[in-house]
Amino acid sequence: LGNLAVGEEVANLAAKVHRFNFLALSHRLFGDTCPLVSLSCFQTPQRIPYDEAVQQEFRPAAVGDAFGPTWWTCWFKVELSIPREWAGKEVHLLWDSDGEAMVWRDSQPVQGLTREGEKTSYILTDSLMETDPHNLNLYMEVACNGLFGAGKGTMIAPPDPDKKFTLNKVELVVFNRDVHELLVDFEILLDMAKHLGEKNQRSFQALYTANQMVNLCDVTDPSTFPAAHQLASAFFSQRNGESQHTIHAMGHCHIDSAWLWPYEESIRKCARSWVTVVRLMEKNPGFTFTCSQAQQLEWVRNWYPGLYAQIQDFARKGQFIPVGGTWVEMDGNLPNGESMVRQFLQGQRFFQEQFGKLCTEFWLPDTFGYSAQLPQLMRGCGIWRFLTQKLSWSLVNTFPHHTFFWEGIDGSSVLAHFPPGDSYGMQGFVEEMLKTVNNNKDKGRVNHSVALFGFGDGGGGPTQKMLDRMKRMKDVDGLPRVQMSTPDQFFSVLERDGSQLYTWIGELFLELHNGTYTTQAQIKKSNRECERILHDVEVLSSLALAQKSAFPYPATKLQRLWRLLLLNQFHDVLPGTCIQLVAEDAMTYYEEIRAMGTLLLKEAVQSLIGKLLPTGSETAESTVIMNTLPWERTEVISRTRPTGADTLVNFFASISFSPRPLTSPAPVACVESLDGSITMENGVIAAHLDSMGHVTSLHLVSSGRESVPEGSCANQFVIFDDIPLYWDAWDVMDYHLETRKPVTTLVKPLEIILPGGLRGSVRFSLQISEKSIITQEVILDAMCPYLRFLTQVEWNEAHKFLKVEFPVQARSMNATYEIQFGHLQRPTHWNTSWDWARFEVWSHKWMDLSEHGFGVALLNDSKYGASVHGNTMSLSLLRAPKSPDTTADMGHHQFTYAVMPHLGSFQEAGVIRYAYCLNFPLHTMPADSVQCPAWSAFCVSSPAVVLETVKQAEDRPGVLVARLYESHGSTVVTWLQTCLPVKEAITCDLLEQADPTGHLPLKELGVELSFTPFQVISVLLVLG
Ligand SMILES: [Zn+2]
Repeated sequence: LGNLAVGEEVANLAAKVHRFNFLALSHRLFGDTCPLVSLSCFQTPQRIPYDEAVQQEFRPAAVGDAFGPTWWTCWFKVELSIPREWAGKEVHLLWDSDGEAMVWRDSQPVQGLTREGEKTSYILTDSLMETDPHNLNLYMEVACNGLFGAGKGTMIAPPDPDKKFTLNKVELVVFNRDVHELLVDFEILLDMAKHLGEKNQRSFQALYTANQMVNLCDVTDPSTFPAAHQLASAFFSQRNGESQHTIHAMGHCHIDSAWLWPYEESIRKCARSWVTVVRLMEKNPGFTFTCSQAQQLEWVRNWYPGLYAQIQDFARKGQFIPVGGTWVEMDGNLPNGESMVRQFLQGQRFFQEQFGKLCTEFWLPDTFGYSAQLPQLMRGCGIWRFLTQKLSWSLVNTFPHHTFFWEGIDGSSVLAHFPPGDSYGMQGFVEEMLKTVNNNKDKGRVNHSVALFGFGDGGGGPTQKMLDRMKRMKDVDGLPRVQMSTPDQFFSVLERDGSQLYTWIGELFLELHNGTYTTQAQIKKSNRECERILHDVEVLSSLALAQKSAFPYPATKLQRLWRLLLLNQFHDVLPGTCIQLVAEDAMTYYEEIRAMGTLLLKEAVQSLIGKLLPTGSETAESTVIMNTLPWERTEVISRTRPTGADTLVNFFASISFSPRPLTSPAPVACVESLDGSITMENGVIAAHLDSMGHVTSLHLVSSGRESVPEGSCANQFVIFDDIPLYWDAWDVMDYHLETRKPVTTLVKPLEIILPGGLRGSVRFSLQISEKSIITQEVILDAMCPYLRFLTQVEWNEAHKFLKVEFPVQARSMNATYEIQFGHLQRPTHWNTSWDWARFEVWSHKWMDLSEHGFGVALLNDSKYGASVHGNTMSLSLLRAPKSPDTTADMGHHQFTYAVMPHLGSFQEAGVIRYAYCLNFPLHTMPADSVQCPAWSAFCVSSPAVVLETVKQAEDRPGVLVARLYESHGSTVVTWLQTCLPVKEAITCDLLEQADPTGHLPLKELGVELSFTPFQVISVLLVLG
């Protein structure tokens, strides 16, 4: 009460009330106790179902016993008998153990218990009746991990595999509800006295009320409690004026779908948290709870059908509120455009099917930045409201709003709110409610805020005490009004009153956790690869379906694979901030996508061109090649022919057969000089590499325009010390830049591997340290405008960051980075704190630095971290954090990037298409015949428009969805032409619902589509 010490009287009063409150009264919370009849247990390393567990042999157990180790499960059988003389009393089973427990009664989960989540008792009865069962058998399923896993020492340290868990206390107790109520009264009054401050009269009134209560109340005589409680109630019923701020309180329980514990444990975390919520709802009819992540609901639906039915009941009553609209709370930066769409498509379809309605708000409280394309994708999925709070974590700049309109790169706008308490896991304290108002930057424009309460991250959720606190703060003079509310009620009020709100345009960039663009490179690479695999399976299966209506489009299998991919995009998995167990789980899921995806590709190809494929073991004469991208490609492919010769082939859009070998107008030539340097040239570009693999010159042959500044080296590997303050896997701090060291130890000097013709290549190796080595093959193909760097790294570092730099002879204040279905600019200078806070940013397949008429693009096949400072473009390659996974990124890596100098703008130069080509290699298959004519399924007339996705519409066999977007940032009209038997074309939203006025006239050239910058358009194509 330091800030209240205006006089000794006040200080004395406060001390007196405090001593009475906590030392005397809290000892009376529990009355009589009674031991259990018996306790026995059974341990298992597996997470097994209840039915299986109760069949096992249970051995006697006792309080004080230790069990474990980490990740095991200890099942306890509890026999209890409630004393008859406790009639009329509230009786709890008190369970105080390490680990997270689920109480099972009559084969059903009934209560989650965790000490860290302030839940240690299961209420057996509110008031013991003669007719109540007095003898009970319960089971306790105790997971050997805490709410936050089992970190050794600190929370984010790698898990301690040998942790032991102890049962500290278990007994039956009489719970004195009246004492609990008085304790909450005192807490709120004292907190008001403390946090309202000495300038506020209400703080004194609160303190003097508490003092009067102490005077009235004899701790040893419960008959004096009601009068004291009455005094508090009188104080709490002194109302606010009309102008007071309203806080919309909503129960919440942030459950990371995997993080410091594996996916499997998250399933149980959901059950433990939500069964607790259901118990609270039974006792608190006004209690509302928001629940995001369709995947978690699907888990509970499958594993806990009884609990799920209760959840659906409370959802019908409007108390249990599904929110968010996505499959999981995904990373907000790295998933590609189509993945983002599928997060919403899978999520919204689940919510519609299971709860009868679509979510109207996107809910992503906890991820590491938000793509500027999200507003359009939300809008396309029936969502126009957005809630998060993570930007409060920004290290450098304070975001200027809590309630505002957020506008994306295409101009779509959504209403956004950041709960001003800067938390999604409040506990209903006075201090939090005051912070919510005081911290609110838009409180002059709107008079409403959200407060999300309930233990989170590892689950847990709300408690009765939190609810009891907020009940008292409903409308108390001096405090904001705290009302149970729903997202819809809250946003509806904003929509009514929000005419003066500001608009923020572009990305919501988190100035923290920038290491998450790079950490766990294998997860990121697999994500990119699996996005491609599912794209290709969908394109080819759609074509097979269009060709033969009997083709069994693998809708169910694709749904499973998509859901695995979407799950791995969870905001602690794709960012690489998870423990080793989770990284392993993720790789298993990716492996399933690869294996099943390959099989599905084969089936589609077999259906499409089975006649051409070799039937026996005879050597195939020709090659069939398929292009899943919607434009012509001219590329060199390696054919597995006895001669081993490469072939240059030209392709048509989408799919084509019988490659036409072309004679290259200008073959590649690799020429070595006496000093060991090598020149590679293909008539389009010419590169000069020194013996260390540096690109000392890279110029356009036609114009002679050089891209490497005089005296600089491109393709310069650099290594940094990378020691964040705390969040190891998450953060790369700005000060790492001060430790830049070029990698200069040569292991194998540059040598020519392929001297030229259709393909030329050179190779070299560099030593990073005693334990790490880079080997790179630099490849130039005939007619190709970019130089490709196929890179192998043996990486065994600790707290190091490897990047590659490309200084560029081009000057611009801004660089361009690809994002979902588009791109955006970020500054290349550090003028202001907002500029330098973006010293490390994210990008998808390409980034570009251009001045008028000329520029250089860097393409990549699996990297996301990047930066451009001044005229140096850097691609972030590998990190070596040790928490929460000591093994993160250790071992072998392979990745490719490419550099493409170009005339004109990157749009004119086709950078976007080349980046697609680098990421979507052609499919080649041996074939018997070359007599098949080339066939092209789709053609888009405007080079600005990308046909990104072709798939079967959900639940509508015989209808395809084609999704296109404008990629240049321009207003264009284009034709989408197809030779598929389309009888009807209708535009639709991202949930594939036809636009009522969306019928497109089919003309000879196909259908005509008009785009505004970065607009995404989906078209339903009804096959004839
Ligand atoms: Zn989280």
